[in-house]
Amino acid sequence: MTVFLDAVTAVLGSNGLLTDPADLVPYASDWRGKIDGAPLAVARPSSTAQVAAVVRLCLEHGVAIVPQGGNTGLAGGATPDRSGTQLVVALDRMTRILDVDPIDNVIVVEAGCILTTAQQAATDIGRLLPLSFGAEGSARVGGAVATNAGGINVLRYGNTRQLVLGIEVVLADGHVLDLMSRLRKDNAGYDLKQLFIGSEGTLGIVTAVCLRLSPRIVQMQTAVLQMASLGGVLNLYAMLSADLGEFLSSFELISPQARALSVAHLPKSNWPFSDGWAVLVEVGSGSAHIDLGGLLETALATAIEAGIVEDAVIAQSDAQRDAFWLVRESITEGERAAGPSIKHDVSVPISCLPALIEACEADIIATFPGARANVFGHVGDGNVHFNVIPSLEQRAEPGFEARVNACIHDRVAAAGGSITAEHGVGQLRVQELAHYKSPDVIKLMRQIKRAIDPRQAMNPGKVLADERATNPPA
Ligand SMILES: Cc1cc2nc3c(=O)[nH]c(=O)nc-3n(C[C@H](O)[C@H](O)[C@H](O)COP(=O)(O)OP(=O)(O)OC[C@H]3O[C@@H](n4cnc5c(N)ncnc54)[C@H](O)[C@@H]3O)c2cc1C
Repeated sequence: MTVFLDAVTAVLGSNGLLTDPADLVPYASDWRGKIDGAPLAVARPSSTAQVAAVVRLCLEHGVAIVPQGGNTGLAGGATPDRSGTQLVVALDRMTRILDVDPIDNVIVVEAGCILTTAQQAATDIGRLLPLSFGAEGSARVGGAVATNAGGINVLRYGNTRQLVLGIEVVLADGHVLDLMSRLRKDNAGYDLKQLFIGSEGTLGIVTAVCLRLSPRIVQMQTAVLQMASLGGVLNLYAMLSADLGEFLSSFELISPQARALSVAHLPKSNWPFSDGWAVLVEVGSGSAHIDLGGLLETALATAIEAGIVEDAVIAQSDAQRDAFWLVRESITEGERAAGPSIKHDVSVPISCLPALIEACEADIIATFPGARANVFGHVGDGNVHFNVIPSLEQRAEPGFEARVNACIHDRVAAAGGSITAEHGVGQLRVQELAHYKSPDVIKLMRQIKRAIDPRQAMNPGKVLADERATNPPA
């Protein structure tokens, strides 16, 4: 490996390759500290040409590659295995904004650009980059593309897939595939960029991205609602969708446990209700001439009169809005502080959501006494995070996690849902993907993987089981 590492250093310079064990630590484990890997080294290229050169060296020396962005992923996709033979290729030196254009309404960035930096650049030209989620201060645009990230604005603007107009990818043979379109309409053949979006680094390394921008929001209203019952959430969603139309950008469900975990973790919080299920609703408009506050108040009054909502508080200032969102965005960190959890990132048709949550909660109480459910999610997207925090004894119980997963995911599958809505498969859900997807789908995915990455060098063992041992590449 010395020959290989010397060759990589020759391409990247001495500060572009990390080999000291202390330097590798931040790149070796996932955000939750649940999965530990042992990278051979960490390559930190500063240009697409350098990424391509490193990939060619990997090909030549038979080294597997693990692409890494902000390392905030929740499925272990960016963590290498423990063999000490995989090279992490970190995009954290490729952070430039290449263009922001208010006529084409696009932003073009290198893949290592931090998401909040890209959002700010859009704001600076009076536009909105609506991709937003709790880890946006650390996650990188390439990572969001590779995981097809969702977040809090999917309801109105779609997930990452809907926002990407073009990408540049370094393929497994080191070839740079230029798909950097900024076109809204392009029916010239297969839409190849879609293959790479959400492929979690298994088909290539995304090096640059062109994202569509939206008109900036000039007024916004945010409210926290205390629900009379979980079941009322569907009626509420239908009512608000009808009354508020495209102004509705967020509709976030927060269970009592999720609120409690978040609030306990925060040094200071401002959340209006101390029990019951809550929904955080946000509406926004690009026009100053609409009485958005009046519209929201009327819609909420109707929901209260109908007995669906018990009480509602509309934020009276930006500070209060930020305080509401802080509680929502800190749930994941609050859960992490409470100890290891078993995460589920599932989606079902929206109409099935409350029944799914209630059935899973009943299952957990009956089958796994002592375990706690932490439930929150993006109801408007049919996406709920049904996380389970085991007791100390359960943590040590062999096979406990697999049994909990089967319990939740069987119910999701029965409702026609997906075992991952936005976090991806990574290495955590490889076997479950194979179990719940049809053999036809897995077969086609394998064929695509073999066609694009015949040596199986790109993030092996993620999304699909690593088949190099059983079926070595020709
Ligand atoms: C507090 C918190 C809240 C979160 N909230 C949400 C949420 O609401 N919605 C949501 O969707 N996700 C959420 N996430 C998950 C995570 O932030 C997203 O998946 C994010 O998109 C990952 O970006 P990253 O740059 O950190 O990628 P990483 O974690 O570094 O990588 C994730 C995957 O993408 C691959 N990858 C990374 N960069 C590239 C690249 N340039 N080319 C090819 N492959 C690459 C990696 O190999 C890995 O498989 C949250 C995470 C945290 C910690």
